[in-house]
Amino acid sequence: MLQSHLHSLIAKAHRYQAEPERFERTGQDPLQVMVHGANGDHQVVLREGRLECDCDGFAHRGERICAHVLGVEHHFREHLPPNAVIWPFAAPAG
Ligand SMILES: [Zn+2]
Repeated sequence: MLQSHLHSLIAKAHRYQAEPERFERTGQDPLQVMVHGANGDHQVVLREGRLECDCDGFAHRGERICAHVLGVEHHFREHLPPNAVIWPFAAPAG
């Protein structure tokens, strides 16, 4: 179950990584990005060195990760501190 959840999260994140037009920077310091997601807009903010998202998936089971923060990490890598996104489970192989 965890595997398939993880799998769909990664598939969605990859889609967002291929579509930079979904990511609109709305704030500089701290970094704030509006993500025009498949199911609506979501706000991702850099807070205390970590990316946080306002979507339901982010808070889901306390994982604190979602396709939006993964997309922001990908597109704004050079504006982020290391470990702005922490994987709550072991990093997937491959
Ligand atoms: Zn999100």
